[in-house]
Amino acid sequence: MSFAENLDLIQQRIAAACARAGRDVNSVTLLAVSKSHPPETIRAAVACGQLDFGENKIQEAKAKIPLCPGKARWQFIGHLQSNKVRDAVQLFEMIQGVDSLAIAQEISKRAEQAAKTMPILIEVNVAGEASKFGYKPDQLLAEFNELNALPRIEIHGLMAIPPFTPVPEKARPYFKKLRELKVECEAILGAPLPHLSMGMSGDFEVAIEEGSTLVRVGTALFGERLSSFRRPTEGAE
Ligand SMILES: *Cc1c(COP(=O)(O)O)cnc(C)c1O
Repeated sequence: MSFAENLDLIQQRIAAACARAGRDVNSVTLLAVSKSHPPETIRAAVACGQLDFGENKIQEAKAKIPLCPGKARWQFIGHLQSNKVRDAVQLFEMIQGVDSLAIAQEISKRAEQAAKTMPILIEVNVAGEASKFGYKPDQLLAEFNELNALPRIEIHGLMAIPPFTPVPEKARPYFKKLRELKVECEAILGAPLPHLSMGMSGDFEVAIEEGSTLVRVGTALFGERLSSFRRPTEGAE
C-alpha cells in the first residue's frame, strides 16, 4: 500500500475510534513517526497533507529536517541526553519524553539562550518497567511544581510507551493510568494540560478511547523501518 492509502486508512480508524468514544475527530493529532525513513519519504507524506512528524534521534533529525519542506512540523519523541538538548531546542516544536528534573532544567536553560519557550511532554513509566525511561508517577507528582516553575519550559501534558503487547486491549489499563495521572497533575497545576501522547501502530484506537490527543504512528503509515537514514558523507560525490 502507498503512503496515501495508509494515511487514509489510519485517518478513518482514528475517526471511528473518536466516534466510539464520543470525541471530536479534531481532538486527536496524528504524529507520523518518520524515524529511519529518508527525506524523500517525508516530502511525499507532506504532499499528502501529513504535516506532523516525530523523530527519536538527534543526529538523524539534524541531517533530515533541513532536507524537508518548511510546512513539516517536528516533535522529538526519544530519550534526550543533556549534550543533545541545544540541538533539540533548535530543531523541534515540542520535546516529548522529558523524564527528569535535570533534563527539564537543561531544556529551560538552552531555550532561554535561544530566546524561546519550549513546549514539553513528561514521560511516565506507567508499568514500572526497569528497562524503560520515564518518571515514576509518585516522583512526578512530588516534583511537578518544581518542573512547572522552570521559566522556559511549558508543560503541555504527559506521554507514555506501555509494555509491548500484540493484544491492544492489554494496553488499556496503562492508557487509563496515564489519563488519571494527568488529572492529578492538573489538580496540582490548577489548570488543564492539553496533551496525552499515547498510542502507536498497534494500539492507537484503544489509546484514543482512553483520551489520547496525540497518537504516534510509524509502521502502520510508512511500513517497516529501514536501517537508519544517514547524512551523505561531507565531501563525497
Ligand atoms: C518508534 C516509535 C513510535 C512508533 O512506533 P510504531 O509501532 O512503528 O507505530 C511511537 N512512539 C515512540 C516513542 C517511538 O519511538
